[in-house]
Amino acid sequence: MSANSGIAFPGLTDIHTHPAMNAFFWDRDLRRHSFTSKRFCPLASLSDFQMLREGDVRTIWSVLHVPEEDYFRNPAIRLLGHVTKGGRTMLKLNAWEAMLRMMSEMEWQVARTNGEFTVVRDNSQLDAALAAGRRAVIHTVEGGHMLSAGLPDGDVASRLTRLETLARRGVASLTIAHLFRNDLAGHSECIPPKQHKILFWRLDTGVDDSLGLTRIGKEVVEAMAAPEIRIIPDVTHCSPVSRRQVYELVGDKIPIVATHIGVQALNPVPVNLDKEDVEAIAASGGVVGVIFMPYWLKREHPGPGREAIWETMEQINDWSGGNWRHVAIGTDFDGFTDPPDDWTSAKELPGVRAMLEQNGLGRAEIEAVLGTNARRVLRDGWR
Ligand SMILES: [Zn+2]
Repeated sequence: MSANSGIAFPGLTDIHTHPAMNAFFWDRDLRRHSFTSKRFCPLASLSDFQMLREGDVRTIWSVLHVPEEDYFRNPAIRLLGHVTKGGRTMLKLNAWEAMLRMMSEMEWQVARTNGEFTVVRDNSQLDAALAAGRRAVIHTVEGGHMLSAGLPDGDVASRLTRLETLARRGVASLTIAHLFRNDLAGHSECIPPKQHKILFWRLDTGVDDSLGLTRIGKEVVEAMAAPEIRIIPDVTHCSPVSRRQVYELVGDKIPIVATHIGVQALNPVPVNLDKEDVEAIAASGGVVGVIFMPYWLKREHPGPGREAIWETMEQINDWSGGNWRHVAIGTDFDGFTDPPDDWTSAKELPGVRAMLEQNGLGRAEIEAVLGTNARRVLRDGWR
């Protein structure tokens, strides 16, 4: 399953980045760059089309994420919602409807690039786009709450119909859990304590590390792996129990990914992967995307990311057999994250190649990490 032979290097690939959210909330034109920041700044723009071009990023797994309604229990965020275009849409529509709107808006943004970027909906479209020298935008969805928004409890059929809609629109992966409890899977704590107090005003994220997949969650994950759907399960944000259940349920049917994450050996928090996780993801033929947010990568929460990112890649590689087939880049840029001080936007991503060269990787290994692994996972897990 996880052989890269026969797969041409697709160019630099980021398997988790959020330009669509940035455009949606702040009503931005992604053709124009606004500014970047070393610190967490929700208004910065790290993965707009200009930054992607300057970094020569060829393929992005472009995340569609509509924040959970839970946020709006915070009066400050509710107020903020009223003054931004995206926020007003969210207050009007449910998360599923808002996500479809975000998807359409992203397609419209891409359509304005005169063919430089193009949305691709399956493997053959991706191959054609890359062969034509175009940059490929692949939709992915982060957060199972969107699948259930506005539907009655227990209505599995409607959730599966929505999954079909996503597959038809070309969505390649679905991050099952997210920051708050949803009706698919137990999740891990992913809001840093500092943000909890200030930004989220002691919001209860409802974390219970013992929670696994729900009955609905199991049906959804199995449907994702079925031949008529083929949406790659992303276990980022899942509780350790949920992750294990996903591997058991579909690990022999579809590659499983963790798109933006760290490892417990460097930062032992439940959201990060341990050895068993990485072994199971590798056994499924999947890949682990290293998040470009040092806060999660190392317990010391360093400002710069170079060392933390390298050490994380090295650990994932050690745990997955040492052939560099299961490591990728999943920056989480523009996902309301705090980027590394030394890697503040997509423009700087070519530095990853230099880092891997300095650490002695050969060309095929470097290209595996930069894009070939991700291309393989799409070939095996997508339509
Ligand atoms: Zn995330």
